[in-house]
Amino acid sequence: MASPEFLIAGAGVIGLSLALELDRRGSSVTVLDTGRAMQQTSSAAAGMLAVHDPLNPPELLPLAQLSAALYPAYLDRIAELCGSIVPFQTSATLESGELEGSLPDPRELVPQLDPQGQSFHLLAEHSVDPRQLAGALLAAVRRTRINLREQTSLVRLATTPATVRVQSSAGPLEASTVIDCMGAWSPAPIAPRKGQMLAVRMPAELDLACVVRTPEVYIVPRTDGPDAGRAIIGATLEDAGFDLTVHAADILTLNAKAIRLIPALADAEFLESWSGLRPATADGLPMLGPAPAQPRYVLANGHFRNGILLAPATAHVIAQLLCGETPLLDLTPFNPARF
Ligand SMILES: Cc1cc2nc3c(=O)[nH]c(=O)nc-3n(C[C@H](O)[C@H](O)[C@H](O)COP(=O)(O)OP(=O)(O)OC[C@H]3O[C@@H](n4cnc5c(N)ncnc54)[C@H](O)[C@@H]3O)c2cc1C
Repeated sequence: MASPEFLIAGAGVIGLSLALELDRRGSSVTVLDTGRAMQQTSSAAAGMLAVHDPLNPPELLPLAQLSAALYPAYLDRIAELCGSIVPFQTSATLESGELEGSLPDPRELVPQLDPQGQSFHLLAEHSVDPRQLAGALLAAVRRTRINLREQTSLVRLATTPATVRVQSSAGPLEASTVIDCMGAWSPAPIAPRKGQMLAVRMPAELDLACVVRTPEVYIVPRTDGPDAGRAIIGATLEDAGFDLTVHAADILTLNAKAIRLIPALADAEFLESWSGLRPATADGLPMLGPAPAQPRYVLANGHFRNGILLAPATAHVIAQLLCGETPLLDLTPFNPARF
């Protein structure tokens, strides 16, 4: 087989979304993953498209807004290829904090909320179910000419003026450009930040159709699909290396915080808990663009707490860069050379 134009290392939401965008533009693409596609952090997320989370660095806003705007077309493209629609699960977020436009009584929206003296305002943000997205995105990729090679790791690479020689666990490969979408496992200055979460079945009397978010805890209801009726409660933010152990004490603490906010959750059935590793840079912004001093090696990584949100915009602007176009956005704040 001829060498692909683009070799993407990492088949999470970022790698596969970029592969789809490059394939749509007619490029030849190979994607490698050490394990199975979409089985790491991208399936562990809550799925909030949290454009206005006050914990986001301000420089992220234009990329976050672009991605939210691209989301409907991104989901349509996936549906066109694989035949299944990934629905938005929610279309509003009740966020705590003093802001202009605070709701006089947030219980008009969530009757069972106990605001505990906090103000809440309403954000027009969506959420998706990352497990639904994972299944549909992977099915969409399988309908294209993208060569997805699971159980195949990128081990090392060497660039020549014309090509990149990749040593993979399945033998040597070649491509004109390699893109690092390896999440927390990247050799770039990216560190894993662990998050633990749990899922409960909401009691029948709990009427929750929007995300509720405070700096302490968030509650994300699933309203559509096989997991409808669940609430996802998250999340811890830890420096624990590559450890994925789920600790009962942390899960109980998260659950207690959620119950303080919505006391009706005390009657919820526990369903499951899990953890994932967010890929974090030192400034909380992604690394998007050519790696410094390494020609033909491009980074699309470091999406930290927002990789599900940022996948469509990342795919779009990185595909523009790779195809020699001017990206829709100024990527200076995300330049990998800043480290
Ligand atoms: C608890 C939790 C809650 C979250 N909630 C949200 C949320 O509500 N909204 C949101 O937008 N984001 C959220 N996130 C963040 C989001 O999940 C991540 O930003 C996103 O999944 C990162 O995607 P990725 O494709 O970069 O990484 P990953 O999904 O981890 O994919 C990287 C892939 O690279 C592969 N790989 C690694 N090394 C190699 C190698 N050498 N060769 C080949 N392949 C390799 C891995 O096997 C993996 O499949 C959350 C994360 C966590 C942990």
